[in-house]
Amino acid sequence: MDSFDVIIIGTGAGGGTLARHLAPSGKRILLLERGDWLPREPQNWASRDVFVDNRYVSEDTWYDGDGRPFQPQIHYFVGGATKLYGAALYRLRAEDFGELTHSDGVSPAWPIGYDEMEPYYTLAEQRYQVHGARGEDPTEPPSSAPYPFPALSHEPRIQQLSDDLAAAGYHPFHAPCGVLLNEADMAFSTCIRCATCDGFPCLVHAKSDAEVLGVRPALEHPNVTLMTNAHATRLETDDAGRTVTSVVVEHDGETSTFSAPIVVVSCGAANSAKLLLSSASDAHPNGLANGSDQVGRNYMFHNSQAVLALSKEPNPTVFQKTLGLNDFYLKGPDVEYPLGNIQMIGKSAADMFKGEKPLETKLAPDFALRDVASHAVDFWLSTEDLPNPDNRVTLADDGNVRLSYRPSNGKAADRLFHQLKSMLRHLGLHPDHLIPRHAYLKTDIPVAGVAHQAGTCRFGSDPATSVLDTDCKAHELDNLYVVDTSFFPSIGAVNPALTAMANALRVGDHLLDRLGARDTVSVPEVAPAGEERTPS
Ligand SMILES: Cc1cc2nc3c(=O)[nH]c(=O)nc-3n(C[C@H](O)[C@H](O)[C@H](O)COP(=O)(O)OP(=O)(O)OC[C@H]3O[C@@H](n4cnc5c(N)ncnc54)[C@H](O)[C@@H]3O)c2cc1C
Ligand code: SF4
Repeated sequence: MDSFDVIIIGTGAGGGTLARHLAPSGKRILLLERGDWLPREPQNWASRDVFVDNRYVSEDTWYDGDGRPFQPQIHYFVGGATKLYGAALYRLRAEDFGELTHSDGVSPAWPIGYDEMEPYYTLAEQRYQVHGARGEDPTEPPSSAPYPFPALSHEPRIQQLSDDLAAAGYHPFHAPCGVLLNEADMAFSTCIRCATCDGFPCLVHAKSDAEVLGVRPALEHPNVTLMTNAHATRLETDDAGRTVTSVVVEHDGETSTFSAPIVVVSCGAANSAKLLLSSASDAHPNGLANGSDQVGRNYMFHNSQAVLALSKEPNPTVFQKTLGLNDFYLKGPDVEYPLGNIQMIGKSAADMFKGEKPLETKLAPDFALRDVASHAVDFWLSTEDLPNPDNRVTLADDGNVRLSYRPSNGKAADRLFHQLKSMLRHLGLHPDHLIPRHAYLKTDIPVAGVAHQAGTCRFGSDPATSVLDTDCKAHELDNLYVVDTSFFPSIGAVNPALTAMANALRVGDHLLDRLGARDTVSVPEVAPAGEERTPS
């Protein structure tokens, strides 16, 4: 049995960020990742390979609430889901940390306020080199520092959309984005601002993902060890059930065990719940840390719609994800409840449409698919999904994830869709065409679109209603932490990754205190806006 000071299971937004934060402490850190390095190959940027053939989607089989098998759109690589993500790095709104009344019920308050998370959002924006512009979005929460890098410029069609929205009285803003782009000096920019970003891996490692800006900088420290293809299958405890004593790992067909005084689970919301439930024992008969019966419950994933509008003029935009709109985030124009966030997604390409029957049937014969691609303006609408204890991960008979899920806030999501539709005429878009675009979710089975999964191990101050305490330590154990999106008590309506990163840094500071190593880690200065930094 090998010994370490900290074991982190999972290297995505939570685990990868935490690893980099703890690395300078000199403590012996073991990173266990069930996937491998994502291969760097031409297919990284091939729409057909990525979107139609699902080249980077795992072969896992999960089951829905009725026991029907499906293939979840999940990615097991160093860096986790961030390898494929769109790098839209939003803070939750300050209001998301309080109680909010929605069309279908109440989104609960978090046990900590926005003010406690704010310094860590700032640090996460620095670590992940976020580009953005403060002061444009009326729902933006207070911040203690400017964005470390200037906002990405809009290309002409998106600038036109922004101008048209502003002329119609709305408040479009430059979307916060994590790419290593230096527009002022493209000859020295790592990012080339290409069309294959959102939903694709970055061939040139220019996306601010948890491999490039989490794991790789962590591995520069000799005290950090990464084990790939290392699938944690069980956590063992002492007889009292208070301490995790070993992590059982399947690696290259062999079973090994590793131990450390601190064990951090960060497998993604569904797989973290699976690991805890699979670790049932005499001391924890319902699953590890599950005396409250809360592990796996309150699974959320956003009520999201990828939609495509047809521009009257061609839309030759290459990198489209530069604009957001939160005018309906806290309430709709004619209702008092929140509708959600509107942002752009990666530009559709003709190759992506091949699997999409709704487009062919709805648009043909008016538009050939190549015309659709050249005129498409693509939006991503997100409405908050409310926590519901019956939306939950349990274990199927074969030990895999069983996901019972019913969406919430459908009325608000419909209103957001119709709100955007009603605006099309003023935005140079065909008023009759706002078409669901399933390519982004890559599936017609909504439950398989697990990109924004969260909940399942929520944090709180009451052990009867939460799994983790406010430091994200399991209430029932002395050395078990969870730092992926599992801890979210509510998910808000903006993308979740920056919140997972910020929280991992917050928990990281707690762990550094616990290890007596806080003084060994210095927080980097912010680079002057516009200058690209290499990861360190
Ligand atoms: C296509 C796509 C686009 C997205 N776009 C955005 C966006 O623009 N903005 C945004 O904020 N969010 C986006 N997201 C969501 C974002 O990527 C996730 O919210 C975030 O990565 C979650 O972080 P995590 O640490 O909870 O899990 P992950 O990042 O998924 O990391 C979990 C890690 O644990 C590993 N693992 C799982 N089980 C085990 C085990 N038993 N043993 C060892 N290792 C294990 C996995 O392989 C993985 O590396 C997107 C996601 C996808 C898929
Ligand atoms: S836009 Fe930049 S970060 Fe995104 S895939 Fe292209 S080069 Fe990579």
